[in-house]
Amino acid sequence: MSLATLPKIELHLHLEGAAPPAFIRGLAAEKGIDLRDIFTEDGGYAYRDFTHFLSVYEAATSVLTGPDDFARLTTAVLAESAAHGVIYTEAFLSPDFCGGGDLGAWREYLAAIREAADRAEASDGIVMRGIVTPIRHFGPERAKPIALCAAETAGEFITGFGIGGDEMAGKLKDFAWSFDMAREAGLRITAHAGEWGGAGSVWDAINDLGVERVGHGVQAIEDPALVDHLAETGVVLECCPGSNVVLGVFPSWESHPIEKLRTRGVRVTVSTDDPPFFRTTMSYEYGRLADTFGWDEEIFAQLTRTALEAAFCDEATRETLAKKLEPSI
Ligand SMILES: [Zn+2]
Repeated sequence: MSLATLPKIELHLHLEGAAPPAFIRGLAAEKGIDLRDIFTEDGGYAYRDFTHFLSVYEAATSVLTGPDDFARLTTAVLAESAAHGVIYTEAFLSPDFCGGGDLGAWREYLAAIREAADRAEASDGIVMRGIVTPIRHFGPERAKPIALCAAETAGEFITGFGIGGDEMAGKLKDFAWSFDMAREAGLRITAHAGEWGGAGSVWDAINDLGVERVGHGVQAIEDPALVDHLAETGVVLECCPGSNVVLGVFPSWESHPIEKLRTRGVRVTVSTDDPPFFRTTMSYEYGRLADTFGWDEEIFAQLTRTALEAAFCDEATRETLAKKLEPSI
């Protein structure tokens, strides 16, 4: 079994956070912006701790200023994902960073992103769908125009609504208005919870927002009743173990709860979150999971089946993906 070429489905990827360092360096050079400080000698992103990570992330993404930049970003990110066997990816897109939440501007950014995604699908066979996310620490009022952007552009490409940003800021229930609007527009619902927040934050995402999936959600392991609830209801966790280990949510791969959650019947999936920032790829995640927990072909096949079932795409796309996966799942 070659883990690198195994076809994969990724459900949790921040488009800007997936920007390859060489792409950001090139764009900064074109624009005459000096970003030398944010790169290591071997060309990766350089940061000391979580706070520094946030400032390096902000500096890197500050060079992305127009629809054309986002089109080029999409091309670079999808090429990288496809190189690691990803055949379907769902990317978080933030209208806050694509036109400041203005609907007209958002439509222009989205058209550019979509065009790049269509080109990548034609050349590399990778399918992309978008999940619109307001930024939690910008507050619930700021989320409303973002929800409107999501609702107005919901369709074949924009299929989900989530929330990113600082998980410790404010309460999820204060965003219910925005989530209701997204749901009424036919969008599927996920939310970051249970990464930095405890099991209670996962309960909030379930009870206050009615999520079908939880971004991370791994702190659920603290609460046996929640683990049972997840297993019984089939709410899917978008686990990103490499991200959690690098950011210190868990001290090591061995201590990451993904295997415990899986064996207790929780529907887990694997994604990379902001891969170059965490020096990871989907192949690397698979390799570490195989090494750490002895995951074999059957377990990876189950993982992919779960991700396929939980993907926020239409049924025709799901069937096409299932056909591509047939020999491996
Ligand atoms: Zn995330």
